[in-house]
Amino acid sequence: MTIKIAKPDKEPEIFYSIQGEGKNMGQPSIFVRTSLCNLHCSWCDTDYTWNWEGTRFTHDNDVLPGYRKFKKEDVIAEMKLEEVVEAIQQYPCKNVILTGGEPMLQQPALAALMQALGRNYWFEVETNGTLLPDPAFEAAIHQYNVSPKLSNSNNSQKLRERPKVYRYFAQSDKAHFKFVVATPAELEEVQDLIDRYAIKPSRVYLMPEGTNTDRLAEKQAWLVEACKAHGFNFTSRLHIFIYGNMRGV
Ligand code: SF4
Repeated sequence: MTIKIAKPDKEPEIFYSIQGEGKNMGQPSIFVRTSLCNLHCSWCDTDYTWNWEGTRFTHDNDVLPGYRKFKKEDVIAEMKLEEVVEAIQQYPCKNVILTGGEPMLQQPALAALMQALGRNYWFEVETNGTLLPDPAFEAAIHQYNVSPKLSNSNNSQKLRERPKVYRYFAQSDKAHFKFVVATPAELEEVQDLIDRYAIKPSRVYLMPEGTNTDRLAEKQAWLVEACKAHGFNFTSRLHIFIYGNMRGV
């Protein structure tokens, strides 16, 4: 069994850092970044997981001088399950974050990975909330960090909002919802989703959009007030404050 791991540079993206966002912000964690995504957010900061030559989807960066879409075979490492287990076990940590791309596109392999590592580990998955978990994945995972995409992502509503899946996660005690908010106007769209799917405010995290500290600081001022007004949690992007917008940290 193999897992497609993102490989933006020479090495597959499996690294030890801290969780920078959401409920467990600040917790030392091992990140496993899978390749492939079923969405195509125009501002995606890991577009090497899907923005390949030949795709019909566009990314904001496509128009930058010198920017080229990725060659698929250059940015995917097809790793054996045992190799991923070994890469994880080299670190002195038992928290594993499955991220992407969209990790839940590879559920059978990731369920096998979690089973192989065993119950001494804690497993979280960062997901865009468009795919239902299968029974083996559900049995192994401890926490879903669901990040529904808004209209600012440039995905059609049909693609990004899957009612059955949102309802599943809204009712799951394992799920926490993280909304990336770029403008005050987007708060209405967030509130509408929360109301329609009866998501508990205590499970909602609002996070400012941005990949530098100035941009995050400017947005957090009004976002914190929205959290106070509605009983949501605020989350920053701690890794940006510590490391900047770097890969593999
Ligand atoms: S869902 Fe996540 S990985 Fe996929 S395109 Fe959007 S931001 Fe990128």
